Amino acid sequence: MSRDSQPARFALHNTSWKSKAASSIPLDDGKSTGAAHKSPLPLPIPRLPPGAEPEYDVVIAGSGPVGATYARILVEAGYHVALFDVGENDSGPKIGSHRKNTVEYQKNIDKFVHVILSQLMPVSVPVNTMVATTLSPASWQASDSFVRNGANPEQDPFRNLGGQAVARVVGGMGTRWTASTPRFHPDERPRLVADDDSADEFEWNRLYTMAESFVKTGNTQFNRSIRHKLVLDTLKEAYASVGREFQQLRLGAVRKSPTFVEWSSANTIFDLQNRPNADHKEQYFHLFPASMIERVIRSSDGETITSVQVNDVVMREKYSIKAKVFILATGAVHNTQIMVNSGYGSIGRPDTRPPATRLPYLGSFITEQALSFCQTVMSTELIDSVKSDLTITGTPGEPGYNVTYDAGNPNNKHPDWWNDAVADHMKKHPEDPIPIPFEDPEPQVTTLFAPDHPWHTQIHRDAFTYGEVAQSIDSRLVVDWRFFGRTEPKEENKLWFSDKITDQYNMPQPTFDFRFPEGRTAQEAEKMMTDMCAMSAHVGGFLPGSNPQWMEPGLVLHLGGSHRMGFDEQKDQCCVDTNSRVWGTKNLFLGGVGNIGTAFASNPTLTAMALAIKSCEYIKANFTPSTPPQSKHHGRAHRA
Ligand SMILES: Cc1cc2nc3c(=O)[nH]c(=O)nc-3n(C[C@H](O)[C@H](O)[C@H](O)COP(=O)(O)OP(=O)(O)OC[C@H]3O[C@@H](n4cnc5c(N)ncnc54)[C@H](O)[C@@H]3O)c2cc1C
Repeated sequence: MSRDSQPARFALHNTSWKSKAASSIPLDDGKSTGAAHKSPLPLPIPRLPPGAEPEYDVVIAGSGPVGATYARILVEAGYHVALFDVGENDSGPKIGSHRKNTVEYQKNIDKFVHVILSQLMPVSVPVNTMVATTLSPASWQASDSFVRNGANPEQDPFRNLGGQAVARVVGGMGTRWTASTPRFHPDERPRLVADDDSADEFEWNRLYTMAESFVKTGNTQFNRSIRHKLVLDTLKEAYASVGREFQQLRLGAVRKSPTFVEWSSANTIFDLQNRPNADHKEQYFHLFPASMIERVIRSSDGETITSVQVNDVVMREKYSIKAKVFILATGAVHNTQIMVNSGYGSIGRPDTRPPATRLPYLGSFITEQALSFCQTVMSTELIDSVKSDLTITGTPGEPGYNVTYDAGNPNNKHPDWWNDAVADHMKKHPEDPIPIPFEDPEPQVTTLFAPDHPWHTQIHRDAFTYGEVAQSIDSRLVVDWRFFGRTEPKEENKLWFSDKITDQYNMPQPTFDFRFPEGRTAQEAEKMMTDMCAMSAHVGGFLPGSNPQWMEPGLVLHLGGSHRMGFDEQKDQCCVDTNSRVWGTKNLFLGGVGNIGTAFASNPTLTAMALAIKSCEYIKANFTPSTPPQSKHHGRAHRA
């Protein structure tokens, strides 16, 4: 099928299925895609939900790690902040906290796969033309293909990021993420200071240090894990001669006990509870869940944003809120969607639409990482080495059976805490053929991105939307291998928004036009796969069904570049400046991974938080909070 022609069976061009929302979207300077000119944008009904004020200092859209970073800094600086999130809170009293912070999931990580799946919504699903031939003769049967279940008839399945998904929930994807928070290698980073490497390095280090403190990044939480040390030491030894370094993944997490880790989330960055409250009388913050920002509304000169249009998705009512500063932190897909819906980028298929005059590169140059994956089962040699310092007497389960070791002996291969734990386990569970304690924490190993192996690695055990281990395998022995390859930004790789159909939330339907580029991206991906296969062989053999494989494009959920950052709007072909401020506007900022326009392989959230911190510094220097919070808002807690 050519990309120029839609198959007739979708019959889109013959229908009036141009939804009202999509057809009323204004192009630049008020020229609508429909017949009517709509400038200024239609203002929504002015009724506000309970507790809302018509005007705040700052409006933030999106309560994920990036929105929470903005909220933390600006609320603490005395700004009156309203945060709107289309999702609801599913984390309990610690609003937006990590769902993995329960004993149940930490005892059985495979169960968490379902919690991740329960929240992720695919961005663009091509139409499935399969015919259900085995339906009962009594059932309704279509006589031709048609678009079902919110599928996207404009999505070319050959150019999709089929694994790309969004999380509409308070706390965003940070309620389910792995919390791997490495700093980018300089080769991966966008520049913050032009033409001065050391100043740029200094600036990044400063911002990274702050971001790490917000999300509690560390690399020692798994020091006392037998499995972790087993994998780490094996790889260190195997690669010592080539000087390759291995370490614990840098993780946003705090170890609370030998068996429990508190994973960081938006809630760790900023307590999303409304205030003033008992703890923060001097601060003013208001969270509005189930409230979708649909568009920002410009002043008549087009340079200033005056208000946002909010859709209360429960009551199905719309209203507008004014502010001095507007921040969109709704993720790389939804930030772009709101911007297109506000007339900043062109709407419709890229090859048929007029170019946008405001942000012509909005949605262009998108990147997504290539992901190679496998799972291994630890080798017998490795498992036997766990008990190499122990003296075992007698037969397990029979009188006289004992396990001892020579504590403090400098010839021991393992530290005393290790030998203690293994001996204790073997004595308590003589029936268990594996000498690893049942609650031994999982491995969390990495070898960082470097110029001669420019990919990110996660050698660990974690839940994702795949990789659940069957009951027939003892999951203590399983190691997951996730290697992430960087993708060169190319203008032809696009995220665009339909002028014909909307998503389930009545916003223009996102569509991908993406292929992994040939050349460096493809060559590095092949080397990465070879590296993963060779490295994993040091630890064990492949788990049946989880042999080395490429995962569906988009599954990494590190979509970048959709509103990328640069020093010069035209030369750098970008959308925001290095303070994350939208070019051509005074008070509109975009936060998130969409700002990162480089080819990056490492997990990007820490970097997006660092950029948000820089953006807040600009906001604090250029916009003053309206009135001291105590005098204006004292006693307004718990109004929502
Ligand atoms: C299972 C999993 C594992 C991951 N592991 C890692 C990892 O180890 N390291 C890493 O760096 N990244 C990881 N990621 C990705 C990481 O979670 C995201 O990069 C990060 O959450 C992005 O933060 P954000 O605040 O920009 O966006 P999000 O977390 O996506 O939050 C966006 C928020 O905006 C809201 N929203 C959307 N549209 C609107 C609208 N129109 N109006 C109002 N609100 C809206 C959403 O409800 C959501 O709450 C992982 C993701 C998943 C799902």
